[in-house]
Amino acid sequence: MQSLRFQALEKVTGVDFKVKPELNGKITDVFGSNVFNGKVMREHLSDEAYKSLMNSIKGGNKIERKMADQIASGLKAWAMKKGVTHYTHWFQPLTGTTAEKHDSFFTIKSDGSSIETFDGDALVQQEPDASSFPNGGIRATFEARGYTAWDPSSPAFIIEQGTGKTLCIPTIFVAYTGESLDYKAPLLKALSALDKAAVDVCNYFDKNVTKVTATLGWEQEYFMIDEGLANARPDLVLAGRTVVGHAPAKGQQLEDHYFGAIPERVYAFMRDFEEESYKLGIPLRTRHNEVAPAQFECAPIFEEVNIAVDHNSLLMDVMSKVAKRHKLKVLLHEKPFAGINGSGKHNNWSLATDTGVNLLAPGKTPKTNLMFLTFFVNTIKAVHDYSDLMRASIASPSNDFRLGANEAPPAIISVFTGKYLYEVLQEVKSRVNNKFDEQDEAILKLDLHRHIPELLLDNTDRNRTSPFAFTGNKFEFRAVGSSANCASAMTVMNTIMAKTLADFKKEVDSLIEKGEKKEIAIMQTLRKYIVDSEKILFEGDGYSEDWAKEAEKRGLPNVKTTPKALDAMVTPKATKLFTETGVYNEKELHARHEILLEDYVKKVQIEARVIGDLATNHVLPAAIKYQNELLANIRGLKEVGLKEGAYKAQLQIATKISEHINVISENVQAMIEARKVANKLEDSRQKAIDYCEKIKEPYFDVIRYHSDKLEFLVDDKIWGLPKYRELLFLR
Ligand code: ADP
Ligand code: MG
Repeated sequence: MQSLRFQALEKVTGVDFKVKPELNGKITDVFGSNVFNGKVMREHLSDEAYKSLMNSIKGGNKIERKMADQIASGLKAWAMKKGVTHYTHWFQPLTGTTAEKHDSFFTIKSDGSSIETFDGDALVQQEPDASSFPNGGIRATFEARGYTAWDPSSPAFIIEQGTGKTLCIPTIFVAYTGESLDYKAPLLKALSALDKAAVDVCNYFDKNVTKVTATLGWEQEYFMIDEGLANARPDLVLAGRTVVGHAPAKGQQLEDHYFGAIPERVYAFMRDFEEESYKLGIPLRTRHNEVAPAQFECAPIFEEVNIAVDHNSLLMDVMSKVAKRHKLKVLLHEKPFAGINGSGKHNNWSLATDTGVNLLAPGKTPKTNLMFLTFFVNTIKAVHDYSDLMRASIASPSNDFRLGANEAPPAIISVFTGKYLYEVLQEVKSRVNNKFDEQDEAILKLDLHRHIPELLLDNTDRNRTSPFAFTGNKFEFRAVGSSANCASAMTVMNTIMAKTLADFKKEVDSLIEKGEKKEIAIMQTLRKYIVDSEKILFEGDGYSEDWAKEAEKRGLPNVKTTPKALDAMVTPKATKLFTETGVYNEKELHARHEILLEDYVKKVQIEARVIGDLATNHVLPAAIKYQNELLANIRGLKEVGLKEGAYKAQLQIATKISEHINVISENVQAMIEARKVANKLEDSRQKAIDYCEKIKEPYFDVIRYHSDKLEFLVDDKIWGLPKYRELLFLR
């Protein structure tokens, strides 16, 4: 029988695909059609229920039971009109995927008649069978149950699968004892802490500000390959990345893919998944090819963090589902292919007031510019003080392959401000001193104002090598991985910002109490923050060796692997930060740390098994088969009386094959033994470190190296695994 590789290769060019007609300027016709948004709420809710829901969305007010019943009934009416039969609480457990458990509206009454119901209880709370979600020991030691609770700040939506339609209620997922078990609960707490702290600081400048929301615009990178070819690679199926594979003759060196014409079949997929996304209210804006072959990107218009996080999780689901319809496979892994670029998910982040001001956009007047500078400097200070937590927030086994791989931001966290703002910070530093008085302040403010407007968006250099860069009116956290849930990075970002702003306010207030004028107190404190956090600023090439050395001199951490990066989560400093801001209590923090370590071990373990399996069952048999063919050939040539010169090359290849086979076989065995040792370890941290340093680092690359050599030597017809050139270039 033909191998899966050749079956898939035969089919790949015959795939039938149709490009949907463009929605030519009519995106608005479908946009949000499957979302219970403001307009449909108005239509389906009483005034009272509508107001109560709005108050809850805006101010976080609790919704009374009676109102919940009314809202549920409005939701049901809307959903049933759209052909929905089932509903589910939709949540984001720490497995990295989204979770749903569908219930039908349909029920039987005591008199035997049937009816469709959906009441406040069903809307507000559900008890999914939670025992199989990661909990880091919380539910083992305490209450075994967990529940999902409605998050009214993220609108309900309808998912279509074939002809089936399900109403999804965004929820948080918590243990019965109250500890959070998902990504969303801590994020919401962080956003609320940030709101309070940021409003307090805004009020120094503008008393009208009553709410500050964090905004997020993510840029999702991904690979798109033929599904048949992907299915013929057990590593892609089980680990989401290729663990072996010889580099193709052509990779990304010609730079002909980036921003090139989108391949027709991928374009058909994009059109399709974009339309699904629009219906769900995901405001996608851009689509283009990325640097590596078969790599693409999409990005939406930014939204409030909470909604943007839900939309990104939803988008990843939608992409995977729609790809199947096109017999394509979307790879969200950070590094599916060695030797070419990996994928990230830049998180563009800013802060917006309810008065319509972007706090990280330079202002129009000297006064608003001081407000801008305040938030700008506080962000730098936050990242400086908690860079280890920023690093931890993006740590995952898959992102480890990308960070610092000379194509992605390094594992060293630094901040890029751009030349103009760098100079502004230097001005503040040199001009604010002990004798700094009202007149100096007024002049400095004017001078800075003259400086700052120059840096309108186009003027910010596009330093692509920084993990955290200011890009004119927002910061861009670039080190986030493509498969990550944005909530992880955003929870930390907003928590550290909340804490830094709260501390800032305390310092400024204490200066004011001592009799300092407000604006001088602010300037003095900003100067102090600039001096304190200067070492995190870096404008140069983040990919260079020199930077690694320079960063070390500055004392900036460069933690390359996840198990050690995660240590930052449970330091006394982190514990103080998270408990003070109310984002995690100590128990939750340790549980989360534990979950992430377990996740690391499991993922590396799966990869190690896949490598062992591929080497033993695919690579070695193919090599041996080819070697036998060579031997038969050599024997034949000998038999007809030819001299050694006639089969010299064959002998050499056969010998090389043996060498590679031996190294692979020895290392696969040794790797299994190393796993046995690691598996006995009780301590999760030590186990994760062992999996990293005693399994992944010593064995993965060696086995791969020799496997790739064999791939290069062995007859192409015998090789069962689709090759890089096929995965990357055929569709
Ligand atoms: P680029 O970085 O490619 O030049 P843009 O500056 O337009 O492109 O934005 C990239 C991403 O940043 C988009 O998703 C966009 O919505 C988002 N973005 C723009 N402004 C903000 C903001 N104030 N807050 C959060 N994200 C933003
Ligand atoms: Mg960008």
